[in-house]
Amino acid sequence: MGQTAVVERTSGQGRGFGSPGKYIQRAGELDRLGEHVLGYGSRALVLVDPFILSKFGARITEALTNHDLEFETLQFGGECSAPEIERITAAARKFQAHVVVGIGGGKTMDTAKCAAVDIGAYMVIVPTTASTDAPCSAIAVRYTPEGQLDTGLFLGRNPDLVLVDSAVVAAAPIRYLVAGMGDALSTWPEARANYEARLDNFVGARYPASAAGLGIAKLCHQVLLRDGIAARLAAEQGLLTPAVENIVEANTLLSGVGFENCGVSAAHGISDAFAVLDPDHKLLHGEKVGFGVLCLLVLEGRDSAEFYETWRFMRDVGLPTRLDDLFGPGVGPKEARLIASAALGDGASTWRISGPLTVDGVTAAILAADRQSDALHKLERT
Ligand SMILES: [Zn+2]
Repeated sequence: MGQTAVVERTSGQGRGFGSPGKYIQRAGELDRLGEHVLGYGSRALVLVDPFILSKFGARITEALTNHDLEFETLQFGGECSAPEIERITAAARKFQAHVVVGIGGGKTMDTAKCAAVDIGAYMVIVPTTASTDAPCSAIAVRYTPEGQLDTGLFLGRNPDLVLVDSAVVAAAPIRYLVAGMGDALSTWPEARANYEARLDNFVGARYPASAAGLGIAKLCHQVLLRDGIAARLAAEQGLLTPAVENIVEANTLLSGVGFENCGVSAAHGISDAFAVLDPDHKLLHGEKVGFGVLCLLVLEGRDSAEFYETWRFMRDVGLPTRLDDLFGPGVGPKEARLIASAALGDGASTWRISGPLTVDGVTAAILAADRQSDALHKLERT
């Protein structure tokens, strides 16, 4: 299978840049939700994750009730699937919503995005963890009702507002913030892979990355390396510091705008393929993507100093760095080959890299990333 069969290369002409219309991040901002929503219309359909509804339902209702706003709250059904999207779209249409608000995790947000696009309403997204870079993008990931990955949907519109209450996000279990760093860690190496391969980004009809997009991807990396450890140490004590705010921004805004404007690559392609070993999705997206970054660096033949810097960061913030850490013992060459084959399916992000790719090569990169990481662990103990 040749790369050109699955990846469109750019002409190198023009630029495309996309981002949410507005991004607001501050502690306590959830209490101003009504005020924010009213800027887009007076009728809002509000889709809320069940856990968030039980924890913050009263607060959300109060925040919306204090204003000249008609709203209807719906509990998210658990999967961003075609029937769930249809259910929410139908409810939003019946309510004649001007705005669809999605409050919760990635699947809740994506369902709200799809419904807003389907009825031509404004889109307000309120992530309650900083675990992925999904909130800012014009992309939704659809699953089957059983929870299997179905397809990525390019919606053509970014959220009009992404509203992050830093206090809510910082109070979520630390695993989410750390996983978000794993996802954000892929943004720059994958942007660079796409840039070097002269590939189009994910903006609109696909354009070459802009300097702004590349700059944001690079800045995402700098902020992670600068503030990641301090943010983890503070957030696990429930402390909201500037380092935590910086990492919430890096995980949510910089990573989201960065990947959409520059493209993803083999860190996502390989980690998507980990589903063959993690059918129940026990691992968070960013936990898998972090290890995918190590694989990407090996696959591209980056120098060992960069591998070490990346590994050290992952270790310090608490991201898994070996196959054992992710899947437990017993993952060897046979399993790595299974992952590699799945990672090279038609249209997989793994192809978004310069140079030829083979199942052998990707298998070797996965195993070598694991071995190098394990060797560093052992050195650490001596
Ligand atoms: Zn991701």
